[in-house]
Amino acid sequence: MAGRKPFVGGNWKMNLSGAEAAALATALAGGFKAADKVDVTVCPAFPYLAQVGALLKGSGIKLGAQDFYFAANGAYTGEVSLAMLKDVGVCVVLTGHSERRHVIGESDVLINAKTRAALDAGLEVILCVGEKLEQREAGQTDAINAAQTAYGLAGVKPEQMKNITIAYEPVWAIGTGKTATDGDAQNAHAAIRKLLGSIYGETIAQATRIQYGGSVKGSNAAGLFGQTDIDGGLIGGASLKADEFLAILNAA
Ligand code: PEP
Repeated sequence: MAGRKPFVGGNWKMNLSGAEAAALATALAGGFKAADKVDVTVCPAFPYLAQVGALLKGSGIKLGAQDFYFAANGAYTGEVSLAMLKDVGVCVVLTGHSERRHVIGESDVLINAKTRAALDAGLEVILCVGEKLEQREAGQTDAINAAQTAYGLAGVKPEQMKNITIAYEPVWAIGTGKTATDGDAQNAHAAIRKLLGSIYGETIAQATRIQYGGSVKGSNAAGLFGQTDIDGGLIGGASLKADEFLAILNAA
C-alpha cells in the first residue's frame, strides 16, 4: 500500500433497528484495537447517527453518513444538511454510491456538488465510482471509472484531496456475492490512480487512498487489500456483522 494507511468503511445502508445498530456499535467499539494501523468509519442510517456516535466515542471508529444535501439550509423537504451531520458528530460522508446513482438517480453534476460541499464543510469524503456489468462486458471499466472520478472531483482543489478517498465499487459486485478478482481490482485501482496523477500530479495520486468495494468478506479481504493500489475497502453486507467486519479490519 506504499505508505498509505488503510481505510475501511462500513455502509449499513437502510438496515438494522435502533437496538441492532446500538448492539453492533457496542461490539465494534469493544473489539477494534488497531486505530494506529487502520482508519475506520461506519455509516448508520440517519435516525441512529447520534446514538451510534455516542457508543463509538473513544473507539477510534469515525462516524460516517450515507447521504446529505449540498445546500446549507432551506426548503428541501426530507433532506439533511452537512451542518446537521457535523452537529451530531459525523466526520465522513459517502458520495456517488452506486445505489444513489442507479436506484435513486443521482447525476454526476449532483454528486460533484455534494462532494465539493462536503469538502468545503471540512468533512472527509468517500467518492464511489464503478462500472455496471454491461459496461464491464463492453470493455468500458476504466473509461467509466475515469469519467465518474473526473466528474466527481471537478473543482476539488489539490489541498482538499487529503480529505478524499475514492471507492472503486463495480456495480455487479455490490451485494451480489461476486467479487472482482484481486488482479482485476488492482488493475482498475491502478488506472484510477493514473488518472489522479494526470489531474493532480504524482504526489497527490500516490497519497490518495482508493478502497475496493463489492462483496468483501473476512475470507477475501486479505487478498484484495494486499494489492499495491488497494488501500482498504468499503463494505456493505459484511459490515452488519461485528465478527465479519472485525475480521475485515484485521485483514487491513
Ligand atoms: C457497498 O454497498 O458499498 C458494498 C460494497 O456492498 P457489499 O459489500 O454488500 O457488496
